[in-house]
Amino acid sequence: MRDGQPGRVTKVVIVGGGTAGWMTAAALSRLVPSGVSVTLVESEKIGTVGVGEATIPSLLDFNRMLGIDEDAFVRATGATFKLGIEFRDWTRPGDSYLHPFGTHGRDVDGVSFHQLWLRQAALGNPDPGPIGDYCLSAVAARRGRFTRPSANPQSVLSSLFYAFHFDAALYARFLRDLSERSGVVRIEGRVVAVDQDAETGFIEAVRLEDDRRVDGELFVDCSGFRSLLLGEALDVPFTSWKHWLPCDRAWAVQSAREGILTPYTRATADTAGWRWRIPLQHRVGNGYVYSSAHIDDDDARQALLAGLEGQALGEPRQLHFEAGRRDRLWDRNCVAIGLSGGFLEPLESTSIHLIQSGIARLMSLFPDLGFSLTEIDEYNRVMLREYDQVRDFIILHYHANKRSGSQFWDQCRTMSIPASLSAKLALWLGKARVFREQGELFTPDGWIAVLLGQGVRPTSIDPLAATLPPGESARFMAHVRDMIDKTATAMPTHEAFIAEHCASM
Ligand code: FAD
Repeated sequence: MRDGQPGRVTKVVIVGGGTAGWMTAAALSRLVPSGVSVTLVESEKIGTVGVGEATIPSLLDFNRMLGIDEDAFVRATGATFKLGIEFRDWTRPGDSYLHPFGTHGRDVDGVSFHQLWLRQAALGNPDPGPIGDYCLSAVAARRGRFTRPSANPQSVLSSLFYAFHFDAALYARFLRDLSERSGVVRIEGRVVAVDQDAETGFIEAVRLEDDRRVDGELFVDCSGFRSLLLGEALDVPFTSWKHWLPCDRAWAVQSAREGILTPYTRATADTAGWRWRIPLQHRVGNGYVYSSAHIDDDDARQALLAGLEGQALGEPRQLHFEAGRRDRLWDRNCVAIGLSGGFLEPLESTSIHLIQSGIARLMSLFPDLGFSLTEIDEYNRVMLREYDQVRDFIILHYHANKRSGSQFWDQCRTMSIPASLSAKLALWLGKARVFREQGELFTPDGWIAVLLGQGVRPTSIDPLAATLPPGESARFMAHVRDMIDKTATAMPTHEAFIAEHCASM
């Protein structure tokens, strides 16, 4: 096979042992064809980015695919359960809404539930209340409750979806143990050079500080922001999205746990960005993601510390980044997974999902017999599309803010947005229509939660919704709300659930 050139893959080398590196190693060690070895090179001296602790429900599929026992994983990583994200102060100070995992109500005769809700809200009698009242994950999150969903599709509990908050270092450790048990060879060392074939540019080996040479046929770049292989060696350009997503720094600090164990991430808008709060069993992760063009580093640091609920455990750490992605994520015999491929701020906790997505697509196009240009193009097409779709969803949160009097928020509200997002907004503003694009991560329920949460109201509704008798719709909605209320009331608290099944302490 010559097409994309050189030949068969029997040795995979992963550079980097952060979340991306060990997730890739764990998956490859289970799924690559027999006869393919996996080696991971990492440098403890360099360390990992050390953040990245909130996830979305797709991580459950990844863990299941690896045969991980969920309670053991929760215990080992100090994890808690996550039913969604609470956005505070994004519309205006004092407001809050949830983007829950899961669905709102149930469609009726082909009419989406949110259309019924919008119609009822317009009629006003009876007042339908917030749309979150019709989503079990949202109601349970607000009440600090959690249990696992039911497999019975008839049960209201089957509409509950969840993810995790975990300690990133403990997760990488957990996956490392699993990978090494499955045959992955770990090499400690700092990569200082990359050997490439003079003609094709294919990577042949990485060289370590002590002159060791680690050769392979497929290289997975998990080296973090530095993008050692794809960016530096292969020179694949980076497209910046700074003009849409101006936040370029963060302060991060851990704090002592205080109060109830909330089953959701919190994202609170602040002067020039937003602050995260991620509750784990043994501590809370906090950070302030901000635009350095709009606030001083010291002021941002102070704002983070002032907003902590428990005592800070150590000094805040600063991180620098730029929103954007490489123009190709697979080039020649190198695939970039994780921060080496691109970065989108953690507002919707999507980075770990994008790692997982990159791994899944690499597995489905694994080049065991050699490199096919068609397969490489396919990988890039779907991965770049997914990055772009996630980008649009994150931009929506900023663009639809109603905070006035701050340069940062005014700029976000008035900036021009990607054409793909404009089209999506136009469909919503017209008749409240939301369509899930091919391969799109976020469901219509996710878009609806954020659009309504941010106060983006459509001018009209789908004419189909108007054909349903309003009295009947109101009764149906009251029934849904009642069932959800009763189901949430019967659930244990998040804390009690963890204590019973998977406490790490
Ligand atoms: P890193 O963790 O940086 O790992 C890079 C690895 O490469 C390390 O092992 C390092 O030692 C190694 N390395 C680098 N250079 C060399 C060299 N020369 N030789 C040998 N080894 C080398 N994602 C989420 O999904 N949820 C979140 O809540 C979230 N929050 C975030 C908050 C912030 C402020 C930031 C910046 C990111 C956040 N992310 C989040 C993203 C998440 O942290 C990353 O996607 C994830 O940790 C993967 O990082 P990585 O493995 O690609 O890189």
